Amino acid sequence: MAESIIARCEAKGLRMTGQRRTIAQVLEDSSDHPDVEELYARASKLDSAISIATVYRTVKLFEEAGILERLEFGDGRARYEDAERDHHDHLIDMHSGEVIEFVDPEIEALQEKIAAKLGYHLRGHRMELYGVPIKKS
Ligand SMILES: [Zn+2]
Repeated sequence: MAESIIARCEAKGLRMTGQRRTIAQVLEDSSDHPDVEELYARASKLDSAISIATVYRTVKLFEEAGILERLEFGDGRARYEDAERDHHDHLIDMHSGEVIEFVDPEIEALQEKIAAKLGYHLRGHRMELYGVPIKKS
């Protein structure tokens, strides 16, 4: 089990105010890919004094500290997920905006192979697939 977001923030020496703790907790409890507005909506339920500017600044801080990963799924909105989550790729439903997570061992192996062919050890990758649902007849 990875350490909690709050514990990792503290380990990195970030000053954890009450509001930053609330935002960290919201992120900890999120298993999806919220953008700032969604995080703001969730955090507001716990602390109505939190402003969207604080959420913006806090996720930027966490991102810069390597605690959050910033994702973009083609709509120009930055989304965030815990950087310590197990590796996975994303498929984006272009109709509903739903984000589906997957891991495919063949794709993972193929990427290693491509990197090796080019003379590299693979240290990471990011992949987003965009699709529309196949109509069932
Ligand atoms: Zn994800």
